[in-house]
Amino acid sequence: TVAALGVEVNAHYLAVRGVDLAGRVLSERRMDFDTPRAGAEQAVGELARLAGKVLGEVERSGTRLAGIGVAVPGIVDVPSGTVRHAPNLLWRDVPITSWLRRWLALDERHTVVVDNEANLAALAEFNRPDNTVDDLVSLTGEVGVGAGVVTGRRLLRGSAGFTGEIGHVPVVAHGRACGCGQRGCLETRIGLEAAVRAAAPDLIGTGRDPARQARILLRRAEEGDPRALSGLDEVGHWLGVGISIVVNLFNPSLVVLGGYFAMVAAHVLPRATRELRARAVAGQEAACPVTASAFGFTAAVRGGANIIVEEVLDDPCRC
Ligand code: BGC
Ligand code: ZN
Repeated sequence: TVAALGVEVNAHYLAVRGVDLAGRVLSERRMDFDTPRAGAEQAVGELARLAGKVLGEVERSGTRLAGIGVAVPGIVDVPSGTVRHAPNLLWRDVPITSWLRRWLALDERHTVVVDNEANLAALAEFNRPDNTVDDLVSLTGEVGVGAGVVTGRRLLRGSAGFTGEIGHVPVVAHGRACGCGQRGCLETRIGLEAAVRAAAPDLIGTGRDPARQARILLRRAEEGDPRALSGLDEVGHWLGVGISIVVNLFNPSLVVLGGYFAMVAAHVLPRATRELRARAVAGQEAACPVTASAFGFTAAVRGGANIIVEEVLDDPCRC
């Protein structure tokens, strides 16, 4: 039988998940990693080592690798498998496909697909066994903020695969500097670091990784800490602005919140949905629920495996 690997590079962790064609997990590994600090070559090297371990376990279980789907939080030139710019990894023009092929000793029978992590997260949400909608937008709350758009059951890609860069839509005139080089982008308000700045500023510079900071932030909000609550309310406001932008552009039947947004959903959704009600045109908010993802920080790695599984199933002679 055949297996697929989903692989994810995140600003603060690396993850690999090996599945069979039915989506059953054969092996999975994840490690904390300071990707921007390491630099692209070392990060991809570490990722290849992690993927090599998972691959070994997958192959020992008697399955043969069909390919790997790689999720990266940045602008990916899908046809060439190159990361053009990942602002929060500090990567530019990283030929990740060819590095992974070389370091994992893959040959032309193996498919390697690299895509934006928000796109792959959206694919995972769409492919959930209990999904009933044809049109959804998934918003990933990471250090950056991205959108994956599924419309008419297809992932929207644009001319080169750069669709959905909602995090870099300007929302504040002369606002804070963003990793992309512009100012006042949405992610300077609701990216994970922005949320920590707004809701738990004492955690900045403590050396804790952003996911751990988000957990502390959540605990404080649950305990009723006023700074945490007011900071998250402000995040809720700008998240609502972001949601109304995607709703007005794409008319989805569902918006799914991933990453840290899902963790803090109870604290940001009341304000965000109020904002959505005020801004959505034609009463769309009534028909478009906003829910928290059930996948935690695993949506992208699931989507990476999904994209390979779909390709194999579409081409029966590969099964
Ligand atoms: C990047 C997107 C990414 C998002 C979430 C943004 O800064 O430009 O490509 O999907 O962060 O990680
Ligand atoms: Zn930006």
